[in-house]
Amino acid sequence: MVDAGALALDLAANGVVGVTITWADNNGIPRSRTVPIASLPQVAKRGIGVSTLFAVFDTHDAITFAHHGLATPSGDVRLIPDLRGLTRLAGQPALAWAPGRQIAVDGSPWPYDQRGVLEAQVEAAAAEGLKVRAGYEMEFVLTQAGDLGDSGAEPRLAYHAPAYSPHALLAVDEFVADLLADLAANGVPVNQLHAEYGPAQVELSIVAADPITAADRQLLARQTIHAAARAHGLRACFAPLFTAAGVGNGWHLHTSVWRGGRNLLAGSATAVDRPGLDGAGWLGGLLRDLRALAAITAPSVPSLARLRPGYFASAYQFWGVENREAPLRYVLGSELLGADHANVELRVSDASANPYLALAAVIAAGMAGLRDGADPGEPIQVDPGAWSARDRAACGLTRLPTTPAEQEEALTGSKRLTAVLGEPLLGAFLAVRRSDAAWAADRSLDDVVAAHRWRY
Ligand code: GLU
Ligand code: MG
Repeated sequence: MVDAGALALDLAANGVVGVTITWADNNGIPRSRTVPIASLPQVAKRGIGVSTLFAVFDTHDAITFAHHGLATPSGDVRLIPDLRGLTRLAGQPALAWAPGRQIAVDGSPWPYDQRGVLEAQVEAAAAEGLKVRAGYEMEFVLTQAGDLGDSGAEPRLAYHAPAYSPHALLAVDEFVADLLADLAANGVPVNQLHAEYGPAQVELSIVAADPITAADRQLLARQTIHAAARAHGLRACFAPLFTAAGVGNGWHLHTSVWRGGRNLLAGSATAVDRPGLDGAGWLGGLLRDLRALAAITAPSVPSLARLRPGYFASAYQFWGVENREAPLRYVLGSELLGADHANVELRVSDASANPYLALAAVIAAGMAGLRDGADPGEPIQVDPGAWSARDRAACGLTRLPTTPAEQEEALTGSKRLTAVLGEPLLGAFLAVRRSDAAWAADRSLDDVVAAHRWRY
């Protein structure tokens, strides 16, 4: 148990004046409340009141009342900081940060709490003797702060340099140095950071952890990046697309599943390029439910536009070994890396997903696959987007949903995944998607992309 009183005194003595309690809504947008540091002990116990309606906020901050469970302005829940995640923000030293849980006013679980949904899946996995490890990669575009492009003009990029070039990062050297220092101080361990393929696109990959920690860290990393960017006159765009025609920002989600200290995704003895028999079901389960999964892990209107062939963003339902066009990329272990390095990368994943729900859905789909021995079939090692439609059909290759209507049909068609959300949250989630789709329906993709640019 963390002693909230001692913690608050210690933080206050070190100049911390407030704690920002953060959660992510059904659009993947972080929402928060900040409380004075002196009230932390009380808030840790009783929470603070927030509206029930955050579950039905759409991407544009409109509240949809179309979900029957949350159809009136009346109602409150309690937002409680998880003190295990409490972090003094290196880039905002007067503030600490904590991930928030939402519970009903009477203390009972609140069915719209996405973090609770992930906790339930982690417990279900533990009940079957399984542990999941997860890690996010985050791609973002860096621009000069100031002109947000609201006037119609595109924001100015932070640098112009070849992809992956050290000269690209030199142009934002102070930002990079502060960011790495702040992430380390905030307890977000980093695998690597680099100038990515797209114009002024940067990627940060975070070391794998247990699922709750991985999702918490994804939110904390965003806060850390935004703060470091602001300190250097920059701005970070996390949206699935920065421009309608350009390269997207994928937030690839890596998972591995373990039993008794053994990574079930480690290569089989007979074929090193696929998981062993007892782990293949994880991959098979993700593949089987991929269309429904994508509705949760890449749920926004720009998400759908990002999923195009030829952009390493994935467009068809298949898996591949180290294939960057595949929505499911099996990452190999090796003698050098160790067999335990093996994992599955879900590339149909972006910032508009709630990270807790995304991971909950992945775990449920993977566990069901293990249980059923779901067969992933043969990998595809090329880009099937370059094939003829007839050749794809001959291989039984399905396009991932491209419209909100197809996306909803895919999600509601999977009992396995709708059960993860539960009826109330599913209703709110779908209401929000419909609200976003209606907003986008009579706008150009350029306008839709611009409106999502700074939401995450
Ligand atoms: N930017 C690509 C995407 O939309 C991914 C590029 C890569 O890291 O392979 O997911
Ligand atoms: Mg990348």
